[in-house]
Amino acid sequence: MTARIVVVEDDPSVAELVTLYLRNAEFIVAHARTAAEARVKFDQEKPALVILDLGLPDANGLDLLREIRKHADTPVLALTARAEDVQKIEALESGMDDYMTKPFNPKELVARVRAILRRTAGMPGSGRAIVVGNVRIDPARHEVHVSERPVSLRAKEFELLEAFCRQPGIVLTRDRLLEDVWGFAYPGETRTVDVHVKQLRDKLADADAKIETVWGVGYKLVGPT
Ligand code: CA
Repeated sequence: MTARIVVVEDDPSVAELVTLYLRNAEFIVAHARTAAEARVKFDQEKPALVILDLGLPDANGLDLLREIRKHADTPVLALTARAEDVQKIEALESGMDDYMTKPFNPKELVARVRAILRRTAGMPGSGRAIVVGNVRIDPARHEVHVSERPVSLRAKEFELLEAFCRQPGIVLTRDRLLEDVWGFAYPGETRTVDVHVKQLRDKLADADAKIETVWGVGYKLVGPT
């Protein structure tokens, strides 16, 4: 599962370790040292998950989390120092998905990240709305809105759009889409993907997120800039 992750951590050794392990697990990682940097990265990267150190130099991590929660359901895994244990309960109440206490085993961190992504953004039908530009997908209700107007999609069109919106900016090959959406992958069937992408493009003409063709590779969803 390829997904973008933003690591917010001011301690360079912890950040380096976490980044290394996540990259080895095929995740795309961006690092922010401060809450100010985190806000920028969050907007730039549109991450599938955020790893958030609660003790940041320029802000309380919990305040940053609440800020994120105001406009996004992005899963957050918190890192806390022992002295901050007291914050845990508050953290879970603020919409945190999981937390780990330092020092932690980076392998366990990767396992937890995968578990959260499976539970939330990585899994179809997880119930959390996904927003890219003016496109809003509600997997639980199987609804799509463009600029608040409902768009009617067939089941496979919906799943295809969901796959794109969960990984904006990432090139998805036709084989990968076949496997993710149709549950199989064998040569010769990739035209199915092309046909559905064309239908999606027609139905989402008013969307400011576009499905772009990456010649010879596949497709990617490009959000508004
Ligand atoms: Ca810290």
